[in-house]
Amino acid sequence: MGRIHILDALVADQIAAGEVVERPASVAKELVENALDAEAQHIDVTLAEGGRQFLAVRDDGHGMDREDLVLCVKRHATSKIERLEDLAQGTTLGFRGEALAAISAVSRMRMASCPRGSAYGYQVQITGGIPLEPQPCAMDQGTEIVVEDLFFNIPARLKALKSPTAELGAVQNTLQHYAIGYPEVAFKLTSEQTVLWQTSGQGRIDETVLQLFGREVASDMLEVSWSGHGVTVTGFVCPAGRHRGTRQGQSLFINRRWVTNWVLRNAVEEAFRPNVPDRRYPYFWLWVTVDGAEVDPNAHPTKAEVRLDHERMIAGYLYRAVTEVLTRYSSSSALRVNS
Ligand code: ADP
Ligand code: MG
Repeated sequence: MGRIHILDALVADQIAAGEVVERPASVAKELVENALDAEAQHIDVTLAEGGRQFLAVRDDGHGMDREDLVLCVKRHATSKIERLEDLAQGTTLGFRGEALAAISAVSRMRMASCPRGSAYGYQVQITGGIPLEPQPCAMDQGTEIVVEDLFFNIPARLKALKSPTAELGAVQNTLQHYAIGYPEVAFKLTSEQTVLWQTSGQGRIDETVLQLFGREVASDMLEVSWSGHGVTVTGFVCPAGRHRGTRQGQSLFINRRWVTNWVLRNAVEEAFRPNVPDRRYPYFWLWVTVDGAEVDPNAHPTKAEVRLDHERMIAGYLYRAVTEVLTRYSSSSALRVNS
């Protein structure tokens, strides 16, 4: 008899979960992306113990019916793409159909959802990947997903989690990028029954920066607006004189997807040099828009890293866009000083 067998689906999900779900912040990221894809206008994130014990995301998006609620936790279950080509044109943040399968395989999860136009919703409980029958429940339109006891069935992962304070910090950090990237959505973060911050969802980036980083930073924003060669760069930076000890005041979006890309990030930071001291980091919130065919969001399971066809070129445009704004600012402040 051969030695090879196919892994049980649940075991496969638990192994795959390791790629998508690393800590509460990655759960928050996936659930918030789903809420944004569902066109939510309000997204409330609630935590206990930094999300290690309890993490809930409630949205008022389009919701799911009973059938979808059962399907959505299956691996490769997605409503977002059908063919590989859809990825290039895709405007949704999700497409892999993996997040809910992964999260539900490594936690105790409760989901409740009520689709548009329905008088009531359904809720379902899934423990370590095993679902119970959905039950009707009273709720308004939208979806609530509660994730409790993350990694209760994967001791090695559980041990690798940091303190509740550190995990809370990571969740906050992640949410800030989305709150800035989607200023038309009202975000609220509650931890241990205290509201830590919320944004108004009025669609103004400067107002969102004010709510998240305070008045001094917000009053110092310079607008960036550059386009050329089919690429546009928009957003805000603060002058080089305003900097901080972490990169928390930096967000970069490509086609509205929040990304971490050190080539692009370095290009932006380069534009501030030599006026930012060592180990201090400038503030910037920048949106790059390129043709969808240039971007492959499928470079990494968390989708935070994207593959860009003309990365160096786009880095150059970012550098130019930011340099122009900073130069204009310093010459106008020099004028003010001289006059
Ligand atoms: P993906 O986002 O890649 O499609 P997920 O596992 O994150 O995969 O979600 C699976 C499916 O469940 C989604 O395609 C969507 O149809 C549905 N879904 C998940 N979260 C929500 C939500 N908050 N509101 C409405 N539908 C949702
Ligand atoms: Mg998703």
